[in-house]
Amino acid sequence: MTDTAEFLIIGGGLEGLAIAWSLAERGATDILVLERATLCSGMTGNSSGVVRCHYGAPSLAAMSWWSVPFFENAREILGDDLGFSQCGYVVGVGADNLEPLRANVVMQRALGIEVDFIGPGEMAELWPGLRTDDFAGMAYEPRGGRGEAYLTGMGFAAAARQRGVRIRQQAKVVKLLTDAGRVIGAQLADGTEVHAGTVVLAAGPWTPELAATAGVEVEVKAQRAQLILIDQGEPLGPVPVLSDLASLQYLCREPNGEVLAGNSDHAAPEYLDPDDFVNRADAHAVDKVIAKLGHRLPHMPDPRVTGSYVGAYDVTPDYNPIIGPAPVPGLFLATGFSGHGFKISPAVGRLVADLLLHGRTELPDVDPADFRYERFAEGKPLLSPHPYRGAGEMR
Ligand SMILES: Cc1cc2nc3c(=O)[nH]c(=O)nc-3n(C[C@H](O)[C@H](O)[C@H](O)COP(=O)(O)OP(=O)(O)OC[C@H]3O[C@@H](n4cnc5c(N)ncnc54)[C@H](O)[C@@H]3O)c2cc1C
Repeated sequence: MTDTAEFLIIGGGLEGLAIAWSLAERGATDILVLERATLCSGMTGNSSGVVRCHYGAPSLAAMSWWSVPFFENAREILGDDLGFSQCGYVVGVGADNLEPLRANVVMQRALGIEVDFIGPGEMAELWPGLRTDDFAGMAYEPRGGRGEAYLTGMGFAAAARQRGVRIRQQAKVVKLLTDAGRVIGAQLADGTEVHAGTVVLAAGPWTPELAATAGVEVEVKAQRAQLILIDQGEPLGPVPVLSDLASLQYLCREPNGEVLAGNSDHAAPEYLDPDDFVNRADAHAVDKVIAKLGHRLPHMPDPRVTGSYVGAYDVTPDYNPIIGPAPVPGLFLATGFSGHGFKISPAVGRLVADLLLHGRTELPDVDPADFRYERFAEGKPLLSPHPYRGAGEMR
Protein backbone atom coordinates (compact mmCIF):
# COMPACT_ATOMS: atom_id res chain seq x y z
CA MET A 1 0.00 0.00 0.00
CA THR A 2 1.28 3.47 -0.80
CA ASP A 3 0.06 6.76 0.60
CA THR A 4 1.18 10.19 -0.55
CA ALA A 5 1.65 13.62 1.01
CA GLU A 6 3.15 16.90 -0.10
CA PHE A 7 4.78 17.29 3.32
CA LEU A 8 5.55 14.18 5.37
CA ILE A 9 6.60 14.94 8.94
CA ILE A 10 8.26 12.11 10.84
CA GLY A 11 7.88 12.56 14.60
CA GLY A 12 4.74 13.58 16.48
CA GLY A 13 6.56 15.49 19.21
CA LEU A 14 6.31 19.18 19.93
CA GLU A 15 8.46 20.26 16.98
CA GLY A 16 6.85 18.02 14.37
CA LEU A 17 3.39 19.13 15.50
CA ALA A 18 4.35 22.82 15.60
CA ILE A 19 5.70 22.46 12.07
CA ALA A 20 2.56 20.65 10.87
CA TRP A 21 0.28 23.35 12.29
CA SER A 22 2.42 26.18 10.96
CA LEU A 23 2.55 24.70 7.47
CA ALA A 24 -1.24 24.38 7.46
CA GLU A 25 -1.68 27.83 8.94
CA ARG A 26 0.54 29.27 6.18
CA GLY A 27 -1.64 27.65 3.53
CA ALA A 28 -0.13 24.21 2.85
CA THR A 29 -2.77 21.55 2.41
CA ASP A 30 -1.42 18.03 2.01
CA ILE A 31 0.40 17.32 5.32
CA LEU A 32 0.86 13.97 7.07
CA VAL A 33 2.49 13.39 10.48
CA LEU A 34 3.75 9.91 11.38
CA GLU A 35 4.36 9.09 15.04
CA ARG A 36 5.72 5.69 16.06
CA ALA A 37 3.91 5.64 19.43
CA THR A 38 1.49 8.27 20.73
CA LEU A 39 1.75 12.03 20.28
CA CYS A 40 4.28 13.75 22.57
CA SER A 41 5.37 10.43 24.07
CA GLY A 42 9.04 11.19 23.30
CA MET A 43 11.16 13.77 25.07
CA THR A 44 8.42 16.40 24.91
CA GLY A 45 6.74 14.57 27.77
CA ASN A 46 9.80 15.16 30.00
CA SER A 47 10.29 18.85 29.31
CA SER A 48 10.66 21.31 32.16
CA GLY A 49 8.81 23.85 30.01
CA VAL A 50 10.92 26.87 30.94
CA VAL A 51 10.28 29.98 28.84
CA ARG A 52 13.13 32.48 28.81
CA CYS A 53 14.83 34.65 26.22
CA HIS A 54 18.17 34.60 27.97
CA TYR A 55 20.42 33.24 25.24
CA GLY A 56 23.77 34.39 23.93
CA ALA A 57 23.05 33.52 20.29
CA PRO A 58 20.84 36.36 18.98
CA SER A 59 18.84 34.14 16.60
CA LEU A 60 17.88 31.87 19.47
CA ALA A 61 16.98 34.76 21.78
CA ALA A 62 14.88 36.25 18.96
CA MET A 63 13.05 32.95 18.41
CA SER A 64 12.25 32.77 22.12
CA TRP A 65 11.05 36.37 22.14
CA TRP A 66 8.86 35.82 19.07
CA SER A 67 7.30 32.83 20.84
CA VAL A 68 6.37 34.69 24.05
CA PRO A 69 3.22 36.40 22.65
CA PHE A 70 2.26 33.05 21.16
CA PHE A 71 2.23 31.46 24.62
CA GLU A 72 0.46 34.51 26.05
CA ASN A 73 -2.28 34.37 23.41
CA ALA A 74 -2.43 30.61 22.82
CA ARG A 75 -6.14 30.40 23.48
CA GLU A 76 -6.88 32.87 20.69
CA ILE A 77 -4.28 31.42 18.31
CA LEU A 78 -4.74 27.67 18.81
CA GLY A 79 -8.15 27.67 20.45
CA ASP A 80 -6.92 26.03 23.64
CA ASP A 81 -5.20 26.78 26.92
CA LEU A 82 -1.62 25.48 26.82
CA GLY A 83 -0.98 25.84 30.56
CA PHE A 84 1.49 28.71 30.30
CA SER A 85 2.20 30.28 33.68
CA GLN A 86 3.79 33.71 33.31
CA CYS A 87 5.64 33.62 36.63
CA GLY A 88 8.71 35.41 35.26
CA TYR A 89 12.31 34.28 34.88
CA VAL A 90 15.48 35.28 36.69
CA VAL A 91 19.08 34.43 35.86
CA GLY A 92 21.62 34.93 38.64
CA VAL A 93 25.40 34.78 38.18
CA GLY A 94 28.50 34.87 40.35
CA ALA A 95 31.23 37.52 40.04
CA ASP A 96 33.08 35.51 37.36
CA ASN A 97 30.09 35.75 35.03
CA LEU A 98 29.04 39.35 35.51
CA GLU A 99 30.53 40.55 32.21
CA PRO A 100 28.77 37.90 30.08
CA LEU A 101 25.50 38.69 31.89
CA ARG A 102 25.83 42.40 31.08
CA ALA A 103 26.79 41.74 27.46
CA ASN A 104 23.94 39.27 26.95
CA VAL A 105 21.37 41.63 28.45
CA VAL A 106 22.59 44.48 26.22
CA MET A 107 22.21 42.21 23.17
CA GLN A 108 18.77 41.01 24.29
CA ARG A 109 17.53 44.56 24.86
CA ALA A 110 18.70 45.49 21.37
CA LEU A 111 16.35 42.75 20.13
CA GLY A 112 13.50 44.36 22.08
CA ILE A 113 13.43 41.73 24.82
CA GLU A 114 11.97 42.96 28.11
CA VAL A 115 14.74 42.25 30.61
CA ASP A 116 16.06 44.26 33.55
CA PHE A 117 18.82 43.94 36.10
CA ILE A 118 17.47 43.51 39.60
CA GLY A 119 19.10 43.67 43.02
CA PRO A 120 18.76 41.49 46.12
CA GLY A 121 15.86 43.58 47.45
CA GLU A 122 13.73 43.01 44.36
CA MET A 123 14.68 39.34 44.29
CA ALA A 124 13.64 38.96 47.93
CA GLU A 125 10.20 40.24 46.92
CA LEU A 126 10.01 37.84 43.98
CA TRP A 127 11.27 34.83 45.97
CA PRO A 128 11.23 35.31 49.76
CA GLY A 129 13.90 33.23 51.50
CA LEU A 130 16.08 32.71 48.46
CA ARG A 131 19.76 33.22 49.21
CA THR A 132 21.29 35.83 46.88
CA ASP A 133 24.55 36.88 48.57
CA ASP A 134 26.67 34.92 46.05
CA PHE A 135 24.89 36.44 43.04
CA ALA A 136 26.94 39.32 41.66
CA GLY A 137 24.21 40.08 39.13
CA MET A 138 20.63 39.09 38.37
CA ALA A 139 18.46 39.76 35.33
CA TYR A 140 14.67 39.48 35.34
CA GLU A 141 12.33 38.76 32.45
CA PRO A 142 8.78 39.47 33.66
CA ARG A 143 7.28 37.84 30.53
CA GLY A 144 9.16 34.56 31.01
CA GLY A 145 7.76 31.63 32.92
CA ARG A 146 6.82 28.04 32.58
CA GLY A 147 4.60 26.12 30.21
CA GLU A 148 3.41 22.58 29.64
CA ALA A 149 5.15 20.92 26.72
CA TYR A 150 2.70 18.02 26.46
CA LEU A 151 -0.32 20.34 26.43
CA THR A 152 1.41 22.60 23.92
CA GLY A 153 2.16 19.71 21.57
CA MET A 154 -1.40 18.44 21.88
CA GLY A 155 -2.68 21.98 21.26
CA PHE A 156 -0.69 22.16 18.03
CA ALA A 157 -1.99 18.71 17.07
CA ALA A 158 -5.65 19.58 17.64
CA ALA A 159 -5.35 22.86 15.75
CA ALA A 160 -3.44 21.15 12.94
CA ARG A 161 -6.16 18.50 12.58
CA GLN A 162 -8.76 21.24 12.34
CA ARG A 163 -6.80 22.64 9.41
CA GLY A 164 -6.80 19.28 7.67
CA VAL A 165 -3.46 17.83 8.76
CA ARG A 166 -3.53 14.04 8.90
CA ILE A 167 -1.87 12.51 11.96
CA ARG A 168 -1.15 8.79 12.26
CA GLN A 169 -0.03 7.29 15.58
CA GLN A 170 1.49 3.82 16.08
CA ALA A 171 3.10 4.44 12.68
CA LYS A 172 6.77 3.70 13.03
CA VAL A 173 9.03 4.64 10.15
CA VAL A 174 11.78 2.11 9.57
CA LYS A 175 13.58 3.82 6.73
CA LEU A 176 13.61 6.76 4.38
CA LEU A 177 12.99 5.95 0.74
CA THR A 178 15.39 7.33 -1.83
CA ASP A 179 15.38 7.46 -5.61
CA ALA A 180 18.09 8.90 -7.83
CA GLY A 181 19.79 10.58 -4.87
CA ARG A 182 16.61 12.15 -3.54
CA VAL A 183 14.51 11.31 -0.47
CA ILE A 184 11.06 10.51 -1.81
CA GLY A 185 9.27 9.22 1.27
CA ALA A 186 9.35 6.69 4.06
CA GLN A 187 8.66 3.04 4.71
CA LEU A 188 6.70 2.05 7.81
CA ALA A 189 7.17 -0.99 10.03
CA ASP A 190 4.01 -2.60 8.58
CA GLY A 191 5.58 -2.44 5.11
CA THR A 192 3.44 0.41 3.77
CA GLU A 193 5.10 3.35 2.06
CA VAL A 194 4.38 7.05 2.02
CA HIS A 195 5.68 9.02 -0.95
CA ALA A 196 6.20 12.72 -0.31
CA GLY A 197 7.35 15.92 -1.97
CA THR A 198 9.34 16.82 1.15
CA VAL A 199 10.15 14.74 4.22
CA VAL A 200 10.65 16.68 7.46
CA LEU A 201 12.58 14.66 10.02
CA ALA A 202 11.67 15.84 13.53
CA ALA A 203 12.32 12.69 15.51
CA GLY A 204 14.26 14.15 18.45
CA PRO A 205 17.06 11.87 19.64
CA TRP A 206 15.89 9.17 17.21
CA THR A 207 16.71 11.37 14.20
CA PRO A 208 20.27 10.08 13.54
CA GLU A 209 19.19 6.46 13.04
CA LEU A 210 16.48 7.46 10.56
CA ALA A 211 18.67 9.97 8.71
CA ALA A 212 21.34 7.28 8.35
CA THR A 213 18.94 5.20 6.23
CA ALA A 214 19.31 7.92 3.56
CA GLY A 215 23.07 8.14 4.09
CA VAL A 216 22.87 11.36 6.11
CA GLU A 217 24.94 11.64 9.26
CA VAL A 218 23.26 13.81 11.90
CA GLU A 219 25.44 14.84 14.82
CA VAL A 220 22.87 14.49 17.58
CA LYS A 221 23.42 12.59 20.83
CA ALA A 222 20.99 11.81 23.65
CA GLN A 223 22.35 13.55 26.75
CA ARG A 224 21.02 12.37 30.10
CA ALA A 225 19.05 14.95 32.11
CA GLN A 226 18.14 14.10 35.70
CA LEU A 227 15.27 16.02 37.31
CA ILE A 228 14.48 15.97 41.00
CA LEU A 229 11.34 17.02 42.86
CA ILE A 230 11.48 18.40 46.38
CA ASP A 231 8.76 19.18 48.89
CA GLN A 232 10.10 22.02 51.03
CA GLY A 233 7.78 21.13 53.89
CA GLU A 234 5.30 23.78 52.80
CA PRO A 235 4.08 24.66 49.31
CA LEU A 236 6.24 27.15 47.46
CA GLY A 237 4.34 30.28 46.45
CA PRO A 238 4.30 31.77 42.95
CA VAL A 239 8.00 32.42 42.28
CA PRO A 240 9.85 32.98 39.01
CA VAL A 241 11.87 30.29 37.28
CA LEU A 242 15.50 30.65 38.40
CA SER A 243 18.62 29.89 36.36
CA ASP A 244 21.16 29.74 39.15
CA LEU A 245 24.43 30.00 37.28
CA ALA A 246 26.41 30.40 40.51
CA SER A 247 25.45 26.88 41.64
CA LEU A 248 24.77 25.60 38.09
CA GLN A 249 21.19 24.49 38.62
CA TYR A 250 17.72 25.65 37.63
CA LEU A 251 14.69 25.75 39.87
CA CYS A 252 11.00 25.96 39.03
CA ARG A 253 7.82 25.83 41.01
CA GLU A 254 5.67 22.80 40.21
CA PRO A 255 1.90 23.39 40.04
CA ASN A 256 1.55 21.54 43.39
CA GLY A 257 4.03 23.84 45.15
CA GLU A 258 7.02 21.48 45.00
CA VAL A 259 10.39 22.54 43.63
CA LEU A 260 11.70 21.04 40.39
CA ALA A 261 15.50 21.09 40.35
CA GLY A 262 17.50 20.53 37.18
CA ASN A 263 21.19 20.46 36.48
CA SER A 264 22.94 23.25 34.54
CA ASP A 265 26.44 21.82 34.84
CA HIS A 266 27.23 20.26 31.48
CA ALA A 267 30.98 19.91 32.04
CA ALA A 268 30.84 16.10 32.04
CA PRO A 269 27.80 15.08 29.98
CA GLU A 270 26.51 11.51 30.09
CA TYR A 271 24.70 9.95 27.18
CA LEU A 272 21.97 7.33 27.11
CA ASP A 273 20.02 5.08 24.80
CA PRO A 274 16.65 6.86 24.41
CA ASP A 275 14.94 3.47 24.13
CA ASP A 276 16.57 1.93 27.18
CA PHE A 277 17.36 3.97 30.27
CA VAL A 278 16.62 3.97 33.99
CA ASN A 279 13.92 6.55 34.57
CA ARG A 280 15.05 7.89 37.93
CA ALA A 281 17.95 10.05 39.11
CA ASP A 282 20.98 8.33 40.60
CA ALA A 283 22.14 8.84 44.18
CA HIS A 284 25.00 11.14 43.14
CA ALA A 285 22.62 13.50 41.31
CA VAL A 286 20.23 13.53 44.26
CA ASP A 287 23.07 14.32 46.69
CA LYS A 288 24.24 17.19 44.49
CA VAL A 289 20.76 18.68 44.30
CA ILE A 290 20.29 18.41 48.07
CA ALA A 291 23.57 20.28 48.66
CA LYS A 292 22.86 22.98 46.04
CA LEU A 293 19.26 23.47 47.08
CA GLY A 294 20.16 23.60 50.76
CA HIS A 295 22.55 26.42 49.91
CA ARG A 296 20.08 28.37 47.76
CA LEU A 297 17.00 27.82 49.97
CA PRO A 298 18.47 27.62 53.48
CA HIS A 299 15.14 28.08 55.30
CA MET A 300 13.13 25.18 53.87
CA PRO A 301 11.06 24.02 56.87
CA ASP A 302 11.07 20.25 56.33
CA PRO A 303 12.56 19.33 52.95
CA ARG A 304 12.37 15.88 51.39
CA VAL A 305 12.88 14.47 47.93
CA THR A 306 9.55 13.28 46.55
CA GLY A 307 10.57 11.93 43.17
CA SER A 308 12.82 12.06 40.17
CA TYR A 309 12.84 11.25 36.47
CA VAL A 310 15.19 11.22 33.52
CA GLY A 311 14.97 12.62 30.01
CA ALA A 312 17.32 13.00 27.08
CA TYR A 313 18.34 16.31 25.53
CA ASP A 314 18.95 15.79 21.80
CA VAL A 315 22.22 17.69 21.75
CA THR A 316 24.33 18.84 18.82
CA PRO A 317 28.05 19.66 19.12
CA ASP A 318 27.26 23.37 19.72
CA TYR A 319 24.06 22.81 21.73
CA ASN A 320 21.97 24.56 19.10
CA PRO A 321 19.35 23.04 16.80
CA ILE A 322 19.74 21.89 13.23
CA ILE A 323 16.91 23.43 11.20
CA GLY A 324 17.26 23.31 7.46
CA PRO A 325 17.73 21.17 4.37
CA ALA A 326 19.76 17.97 4.72
CA PRO A 327 22.55 17.36 2.21
CA VAL A 328 20.18 15.06 0.29
CA PRO A 329 17.37 16.73 -1.69
CA GLY A 330 13.85 16.09 -0.43
CA LEU A 331 14.87 15.88 3.23
CA PHE A 332 14.56 18.71 5.79
CA LEU A 333 15.90 18.42 9.35
CA ALA A 334 14.40 19.89 12.55
CA THR A 335 16.31 18.29 15.36
CA GLY A 336 19.00 18.70 18.01
CA PHE A 337 17.02 21.16 20.10
CA SER A 338 19.51 20.69 22.93
CA GLY A 339 17.15 21.59 25.76
CA HIS A 340 15.74 24.75 24.11
CA GLY A 341 12.95 23.21 22.06
CA PHE A 342 9.93 24.06 24.19
CA LYS A 343 10.29 27.81 24.41
CA ILE A 344 11.12 28.23 20.73
CA SER A 345 8.59 25.70 19.37
CA PRO A 346 6.14 28.31 17.99
CA ALA A 347 9.01 30.02 16.16
CA VAL A 348 10.39 26.69 14.95
CA GLY A 349 7.06 25.91 13.33
CA ARG A 350 6.95 29.29 11.67
CA LEU A 351 10.59 29.17 10.56
CA VAL A 352 10.26 25.74 8.97
CA ALA A 353 6.97 26.66 7.27
CA ASP A 354 8.48 29.88 5.94
CA LEU A 355 11.56 28.11 4.59
CA LEU A 356 9.64 25.24 3.00
CA LEU A 357 6.97 27.44 1.44
CA HIS A 358 8.94 30.58 0.57
CA GLY A 359 12.65 29.80 0.99
CA ARG A 360 13.10 32.63 3.48
CA THR A 361 11.64 33.78 6.79
CA GLU A 362 10.22 37.02 8.07
CA LEU A 363 10.85 36.08 11.70
CA PRO A 364 12.57 39.23 13.00
CA ASP A 365 16.28 38.98 13.85
CA VAL A 366 16.45 35.27 13.00
CA ASP A 367 19.11 34.21 10.50
CA PRO A 368 18.14 30.72 9.30
CA ALA A 369 21.75 30.11 8.23
CA ASP A 370 22.68 30.00 11.91
CA PHE A 371 20.95 26.63 12.17
CA ARG A 372 22.25 25.07 8.94
CA TYR A 373 23.31 21.43 8.92
CA GLU A 374 26.67 22.20 7.32
CA ARG A 375 28.03 24.43 10.09
CA PHE A 376 29.80 21.60 11.92
CA ALA A 377 31.66 20.32 8.84
CA GLU A 378 32.56 23.93 8.03
CA GLY A 379 34.03 24.35 11.52
CA LYS A 380 31.64 27.25 12.16
CA PRO A 381 29.46 26.18 15.09
CA LEU A 382 26.83 28.57 16.45
CA LEU A 383 28.44 29.76 19.67
CA SER A 384 27.42 32.45 22.12
CA PRO A 385 29.72 35.48 21.82
CA HIS A 386 29.42 35.85 25.61
CA PRO A 387 29.44 32.37 27.14
CA TYR A 388 29.12 31.77 30.86
CA ARG A 389 32.11 30.22 32.55
CA GLY A 390 31.26 26.74 33.82
CA ALA A 391 27.83 26.61 32.23
CA GLY A 392 28.86 24.88 28.99
CA GLU A 393 27.26 25.88 25.71
CA MET A 394 23.64 25.41 26.71
CA ARG A 395 23.14 29.12 27.25
C1 LIG B 1 14.42 16.78 30.65
C2 LIG B 1 14.18 17.85 29.64
C3 LIG B 1 13.91 19.14 30.05
C4 LIG B 1 13.69 20.14 29.12
N1 LIG B 1 13.40 21.39 29.54
C5 LIG B 1 13.18 22.37 28.64
C6 LIG B 1 12.86 23.68 29.06
O1 LIG B 1 12.78 23.94 30.27
N2 LIG B 1 12.62 24.62 28.13
C7 LIG B 1 12.74 24.37 26.79
O2 LIG B 1 12.58 25.27 25.99
N3 LIG B 1 13.03 23.12 26.35
C8 LIG B 1 13.24 22.13 27.24
N4 LIG B 1 13.53 20.87 26.82
C9 LIG B 1 13.59 20.62 25.39
C10 LIG B 1 12.25 20.38 24.73
O3 LIG B 1 11.35 19.78 25.61
C11 LIG B 1 12.50 19.51 23.52
O4 LIG B 1 13.43 20.17 22.68
C12 LIG B 1 11.26 19.23 22.72
O5 LIG B 1 10.19 18.79 23.50
C13 LIG B 1 11.62 18.18 21.71
O6 LIG B 1 10.56 17.96 20.84
P1 LIG B 1 10.82 17.10 19.54
O7 LIG B 1 9.53 17.05 18.82
O8 LIG B 1 12.02 17.58 18.81
O9 LIG B 1 11.26 15.65 20.10
P2 LIG B 1 10.39 14.50 20.79
O10 LIG B 1 9.40 15.02 21.73
O11 LIG B 1 11.35 13.50 21.30
O12 LIG B 1 9.57 13.93 19.57
C14 LIG B 1 10.13 13.08 18.60
C15 LIG B 1 9.05 12.10 18.24
O13 LIG B 1 9.51 11.28 17.17
C16 LIG B 1 8.94 10.00 17.37
N5 LIG B 1 9.72 9.02 16.60
C17 LIG B 1 10.97 8.60 16.88
N6 LIG B 1 11.34 7.67 15.97
C18 LIG B 1 10.30 7.52 15.13
C19 LIG B 1 10.08 6.68 14.00
N7 LIG B 1 11.00 5.79 13.59
N8 LIG B 1 8.90 6.76 13.34
C20 LIG B 1 7.94 7.66 13.76
N9 LIG B 1 8.10 8.45 14.84
C21 LIG B 1 9.27 8.39 15.51
C22 LIG B 1 9.05 9.77 18.86
O14 LIG B 1 8.20 8.77 19.33
C23 LIG B 1 8.72 11.17 19.40
O15 LIG B 1 7.36 11.31 19.74
C24 LIG B 1 13.74 19.84 27.73
C25 LIG B 1 14.00 18.54 27.31
C26 LIG B 1 14.21 17.54 28.25
C27 LIG B 1 14.49 16.15 27.79
